Amino acid sequence: MKKHPDIEEILLTENQIKRKVGEIARQLNRDYKNKKPIIVSVLKGSVVFLCDLIRKLEFDHIIDFISVSSYANATESSGVVRLLMDLRESIVGRDVLIVEDIVDTGLTLAYLKRNLLTRKPKSLKICVLLDKKECRKQFIKVDYVGFTIPNKFCVGYGLDYRQLYRNLPYIGILKPQVYRRK
Ligand code: 5GP
Repeated sequence: MKKHPDIEEILLTENQIKRKVGEIARQLNRDYKNKKPIIVSVLKGSVVFLCDLIRKLEFDHIIDFISVSSYANATESSGVVRLLMDLRESIVGRDVLIVEDIVDTGLTLAYLKRNLLTRKPKSLKICVLLDKKECRKQFIKVDYVGFTIPNKFCVGYGLDYRQLYRNLPYIGILKPQVYRRK
């Protein structure tokens, strides 16, 4: 696919992502063999990752969705996490795996973990595709990590800027002038 004109640099290619998703799936296939977890996808950014990942899973599982917001059209976390849409399924006594696109400050996943643990799951693990390790404001243990990336705002493969660019098959960095546009 040709590079989108708003993208300055491709950080991770389609092929690199594909290989990594395969590696994560292999770890999950080992760890969740003979279990039937609920996979909780955090809307909307993790949806593309989720769709590729579950097609490589060899154990039974169900998927559910939760939506939280901490950014509201900005490129920096507001620090306030709000639950926008809750799960449909009960997770009491279930193995739960949260699938998220990216962990940055850690505030979103820390909030989600606290929230879901009050519902008494049997286990709760976290899987993220991208980790901006150096940006952490709150410690959060991530069980499965795809790539550790620098502190740059990325889009593509589900990640957006003002709801755009989720369709890009690669992960890229936007040109600075895109942020200046109204
Ligand atoms: P945290 O609470 O860890 O700071 O941020 C987690 C959420 O912030 C992610 O689910 C994602 O929606 C958003 N986010 C963090 N970094 C980026 C980024 O580089 N690009 C995009 N599009 N979203 C990001």
